[in-house]
Amino acid sequence: MDKSVNAVQRMFSRRSFLRCAAALPWMFGAAQARAYTHTRAHIVILGGGTAGLAISAQLSRLLSGARITLVEPADVHHYQPGWPLILCGLSSVSETQTPNQRHIALGVRWLQTWAQAIDPLKNRVYTADQRVLEYDFLIVALGCETDFEAIEGMHPELLGHEGVFSIYGGARSARKGYHLLQQAHEIPDASILFTAPDTPIKCLGGPIKAALISDFMLRRQRVREHMALHYFSGSACLLPQPQFARLAEHFLQERAIEVHPAFVLKGIDPGYRLAYFAAPDGTTKRLSYDLLHIVPPMHAPGVLTHSGLAWKNGPYAAGGWLKVDPHTLQHPDYFNIFGIGDVVGTPYGKTVSTLRYHLSTVTENLLALLHGQEPRPLFNGYTSCPLYTEIGRAVRMAFDYSRESAPDPFISPANMDTRIAWWQQVHLFRLIYLNLLKGRMA
Ligand SMILES: Cc1cc2nc3c(=O)[nH]c(=O)nc-3n(C[C@H](O)[C@H](O)[C@H](O)COP(=O)(O)OP(=O)(O)OC[C@H]3O[C@@H](n4cnc5c(N)ncnc54)[C@H](O)[C@@H]3O)c2cc1C
Repeated sequence: MDKSVNAVQRMFSRRSFLRCAAALPWMFGAAQARAYTHTRAHIVILGGGTAGLAISAQLSRLLSGARITLVEPADVHHYQPGWPLILCGLSSVSETQTPNQRHIALGVRWLQTWAQAIDPLKNRVYTADQRVLEYDFLIVALGCETDFEAIEGMHPELLGHEGVFSIYGGARSARKGYHLLQQAHEIPDASILFTAPDTPIKCLGGPIKAALISDFMLRRQRVREHMALHYFSGSACLLPQPQFARLAEHFLQERAIEVHPAFVLKGIDPGYRLAYFAAPDGTTKRLSYDLLHIVPPMHAPGVLTHSGLAWKNGPYAAGGWLKVDPHTLQHPDYFNIFGIGDVVGTPYGKTVSTLRYHLSTVTENLLALLHGQEPRPLFNGYTSCPLYTEIGRAVRMAFDYSRESAPDPFISPANMDTRIAWWQQVHLFRLIYLNLLKGRMA
């Protein structure tokens, strides 16, 4: 039999096929016949990234008579999970960018401007183009901001220059990273450092993904042998879930990437290619590098800072993350405000996969309020993120607030990297994502 047929058969065993079929409703959203809810409410959604587009589309399907206003300044939508694939050389910049206009659902009014201030006591949003929006319900979907400048000596324009690169700096930055790795053979004894901050980040596995992919690309060019690769994790644990933390460490060690827990990148001197780390013993360590992959600290957008809507105490106060009940996603102090996506201050979960459950939770609870009912604790903290171990293999990591490994609706095992997990992430996930933007996932 043809080799390729054999390979496909191996990939899709009967059991895999049945599990895949069972997962289809999850992946594309079970068809639901739902009656419209009639309301005259004005619903304002701040931020039209993945979360804002998805919730606005979903509400426009389920509500009749409502006014839905989406405040989003950008022209272009970025498919952020595509950025690591650009680093691999498997995707182009343009493949991760689409005009926002294409994604705005029918019946949603798009205001292309910034939200500048929020006054939750008066139910008002003030925009950069001098509008005052009075809302009945507010959905905060502002995402999270990467803060390269919090690292002394670093600014986003440096990405792709002086050996500095990042998959978190956007599509073009990831492309420049690809070129740096392609040229790495010119520095045979290179020292390559990978960093992760000590703040919450989007895509938990992203920093480790970058290290493993880079290692793979260097091995493929047969230049890895005399190079030293180091991974500096800002936190003491590589990942918040113990099983996956051990697995990630295993992959890094297997590839001879030395792991340094609780080392936080504080500054760089790009001219001399020096990086300064706060070490766990309280000292500052200076290391030279040839290439440096930075995952910067992240925080919520500044508009939340003076709104009174962010956490004031606890672990999410420092980043200014939106205060929400972790199970209902409703603001504890303002019944008519919900949070969705990366902006919420809850444990883990700044991923698209989390968003699918945020979407159903916020939709159901908003409908409950419109029907005079109480919101329900529907969200269990589910998050899932793929760890690319090489080009062509991945592990899907899924867990929830209990930090137990959660059943993954996909068909791949949680304790090893497989080709099918890669295929799901690279090909299937994109389709799921587009479906999510259309609000078809709850
Ligand atoms: C490198 C990388 C790889 C990733 N890989 C994966 C993956 O494999 N799997 C996965 O599940 N997830 C992955 N993610 C995470 C995923 O992309 C995010 O979780 C998701 O896009 C979050 O959506 P969001 O709407 O909350 O934020 P965003 O999509 O970032 O949208 C926030 C929006 O708010 C707007 N905004 C900001 N401030 C204002 C303001 N003042 N007024 C109005 N609008 C404003 C912004 O313009 C933006 O459009 C990855 C992320 C990155 C960076």
